[in-house]
Amino acid sequence: MTLTPLLSPLELMQLMQLLKESKRVVVLGHASPDGDALGSALGWSEYLRHLGKQVTIVMPNAVPDFLKWMPNSQYVLYFAEEKDTAAARKAIQEADLICCLDFNLISRLRDELAAVVEKSKAQRMMIDHHLGPDTTKMKMVISHPEASSASELVFRVINELGGYDNMSRSGACAIYCGMMTDTGAFTFNSNNPEVFLIIAMLLAKGIDKDKIYRNVYNCFSQNRLRFWGYMLHEKLQFFAGGKAALMAYTREEMKEYKYIRGDAEGLVNQPLQVKGCRLSICLREDTEVDAIRVSLRSVDEVPSNQIAAEFFNGGGHLNASGGELRCSLEEAIAIAQQAIEKYRDML
Ligand code: 5GP
Ligand code: MN
Repeated sequence: MTLTPLLSPLELMQLMQLLKESKRVVVLGHASPDGDALGSALGWSEYLRHLGKQVTIVMPNAVPDFLKWMPNSQYVLYFAEEKDTAAARKAIQEADLICCLDFNLISRLRDELAAVVEKSKAQRMMIDHHLGPDTTKMKMVISHPEASSASELVFRVINELGGYDNMSRSGACAIYCGMMTDTGAFTFNSNNPEVFLIIAMLLAKGIDKDKIYRNVYNCFSQNRLRFWGYMLHEKLQFFAGGKAALMAYTREEMKEYKYIRGDAEGLVNQPLQVKGCRLSICLREDTEVDAIRVSLRSVDEVPSNQIAAEFFNGGGHLNASGGELRCSLEEAIAIAQQAIEKYRDML
C-alpha cells in the first residue's frame, strides 16, 4: 500500500513554479489557532526554509498554552499582540508569497489582519480541508475536505515535492501534532488507512507520539480540571430528550477558575460521551472582543455546520463547527435552544 497522489502533474508543476518565483514567504493560520493551524504552519515553514526561503509565520492571535511546547513555535508572530504587530505587518507587506493554511476564507483571519493580507501584492496559495474555499483570492488552492487535517495535506504536498527525506524530527512532530489534535487523537475523521501510513512515516523520523499526546492532553492546571468539573456538574443541561446538550459560561466564571487560553478546548465534546447525545453546543463570552463564541459538535449525519451557519453566523465541518454571536449570553442561550428545537427531528 502506498500514498495516493494528492496533486495532479499539472498542479505539481504549478506549485513548483509558484515556490520558485518566491523568496519571502508568509505562512498564515486562522484566528484562535489550534494544533492543526500551528502544526501545518510549522511543518510547511520548515520545508520552505529547506528550499532557502525567508519564512515568517503569522497567526491572528495567540495559540493556547498547551501548544507552546511545539518546537519553533516561539518564532511565530501573533498579530493581535502589540510586540508582534509591526513585524507581522512588515513581513506581509514585503512577502512575495502568502500561504493560507487550515482556513478557507481570508475573513477567518479577523478584520485587521485580513485587510493587510488583501492589500499585499504577494501571490497567495491555500492548503486546507474546510468546505467551501474562496478560490477567487488565491493563485493556487489545494483544498481537500476529506482530509483529516491541513497537517496531513502539508505532509502529502511536501512528500510529493520530494521533501520527505529532509524533514526533521521537529517538522514531523508538528505535522503529527496537527493530525492528532484535529482527529481527537485519531478517534474521528481518520478512517482513511493512508492516515496511518503517514503516521508510520512520521514515526520513522523519530517522533515520540506518546509524549506528544501527553504534552497536549495531560499538561493542564488543577484549575482547569476543577473548571471542567464545575461545568459538567453545575452548568451542563440536556434537551430534546437527552439528544442535545448545552453549556454556557461567563468571563466572571472564567476568572474564578483562573482560566487560561485553551482551558475549554475539548469541553464541548464531553456531553457526547452520554449514550444518545448527538449534538453539543458550548457558548462562552469572548475575552478579547464583545461577542459570544459558539462551538458545536455532532455525531454521524447531524449537520453541526448547517446549524452553525443558520443560527450562529458560522460554519465548519459536518461534526465540528463554530460561530459567533453579538448579543448577551442569555440571548445566545435562547438562540441555542431554538436551534435545538428546530433540529430536534434530525437528532
Ligand atoms: P472550535 O469549536 O474548535 O472553535 O471550532 C471548530 C471548527 O469550527 C473549526 O475548525 C472551524 O472549522 C469551525 N469554526 C469555528 N469558528 C468558526 C466561525 O466563526 N466561522 C466559521 N465559518 N467556522 C468556524
Ligand atoms: Mn484543521
